[in-house]
Formats: sequence, structure tokens, C-alpha cells
Amino acid sequence: MERYTIIKAVKDYCSRNAIDPAGWAPKAALIDMDGTLIDSMRNHTAAWKRLSDELGMEADRDEFYLYEGMTGRATIRLLFKRACGYEPSDSECDELYARKASYFNEMPRVAVIPGAARMLETFEAGGITRVLVTGSRQLSNLDRLDTDFPGAFPHNLRITAADVSHGKPHPEPYLKGMELAGVSPVESLVVENAPLGVESGKASGAFVLAVTTGPVPRRSLEEAGADLVFSSMEELADALPGLLSR
Ligand code: CA
Repeated sequence: MERYTIIKAVKDYCSRNAIDPAGWAPKAALIDMDGTLIDSMRNHTAAWKRLSDELGMEADRDEFYLYEGMTGRATIRLLFKRACGYEPSDSECDELYARKASYFNEMPRVAVIPGAARMLETFEAGGITRVLVTGSRQLSNLDRLDTDFPGAFPHNLRITAADVSHGKPHPEPYLKGMELAGVSPVESLVVENAPLGVESGKASGAFVLAVTTGPVPRRSLEEAGADLVFSSMEELADALPGLLSR
């Protein structure tokens, strides 16, 4: 990514927030998990499709990419509302979500997104607190973070679906992440790969770095309000030192 693109995005962000670009210094990075750190979205969409098929609810596998970031309960409610006109209770949702999670677990282990470790190291080197902000409760993925990215996300710096009343695109997950890090919105960077996640980050007031890691087109991330859109995590990791030391 060209240096002027980064400088312009920072200038635009600072002008919207009435702050001096020269004094803008992010203190925390709030980082999404699925599709951002691990290449799990293909398996998630397959697991959702299997569940909706078993329930006899018509759904297109690709539509689940668009629900990425929503909590499991919210996705299940959407499917039921559309197919049967009613919303199941929390406990019914949790039971179905556990089924979807078990289908996910039956699939082969997913890979780490190339460039994700370098992105995390660059934040650490820049003295930036890293916070995980995910709509997931998939324990198998949350547990493997400690092995995939040792030390990057202590358990007191994680927001999961269990910590919020409203999932993405509501700003609550990212606002709660800022609380954990003790930072304000304009001191925060969000790293996301999904339109609903970008909307959530944008609504929280953070500077949003979006990366395309799946079939969701770049345009959708721009329209959702990302400040910068990268075509891969490697590209984001390449650009990060320049963003942090403008
Ligand atoms: Ca994601």
C-alpha cells in the first residue's frame, strides 16, 4: 500500500474526530479472530449450512459469510425468523449453536492466516496493547490461540460472545474491548475481515483496518466504513510499521 494512502486515511479519520493527526497515537489494537487470525470461515459456513439443511431451512452457504461477526444466537434467530416467523429462546439457540460448533470441530484443523503473527508482533513492538474481540464462542478456536499466537492474548484481554449483550455490527464488543485496554475510541485500532465487524468497529469510533481474506469483496468492506482496506494480511503487516511511525 502506498504511503500517501495511509497518510490520507489518518488525516481523514483525525479530521472527522477533530484531532491533530500529528498527535494521533493508537494505544490498543482490537483484533477479530475468525478470518482475521485463523482461516476458519470456510469451515464455519459449511457447519452453518449443514445445520440449516438438517433443520430443513433453506439457506445459501455463502450467505453465512455475510453474518460473520454476529453471535451464534443472532444467526440462529435470523434463520428461524425467516423460515418459521418466530425467534427461538436463548436455550434453544444455545443447543443449536452447540450442534453447529460440534460440526465445526469435526472438520480438519484450520490454518493460521499468513501475516497474522507478524501483525501481532508489530503491535507488540510498538507498545500497543492487543485485545481479542470475537463474536465466537467456539472454544476449540479460542483455546488454540495460546498455541498459535503464544502470549498475544492473555485471558483478561479477550471479548467473546459470552461478554456482550449485542454482537457485531453493534459497537458493544469493540467498546468493551477498549474498556479492557483502558483506552478511548480514538486511541484504538480495529482489525477486521467482515463487513459487520467493520461496521461495529466504525460505530465504536476506532480507526478500522480491514483485510480481505475470503470471498467478501473489498467494496463491501469500504462501504461498511473501513479506514483502510488491504488485499491480504501480509499486505497489512507490511504497512503497519509505516502506520504506527508516520
Ligand atoms: Ca471475522
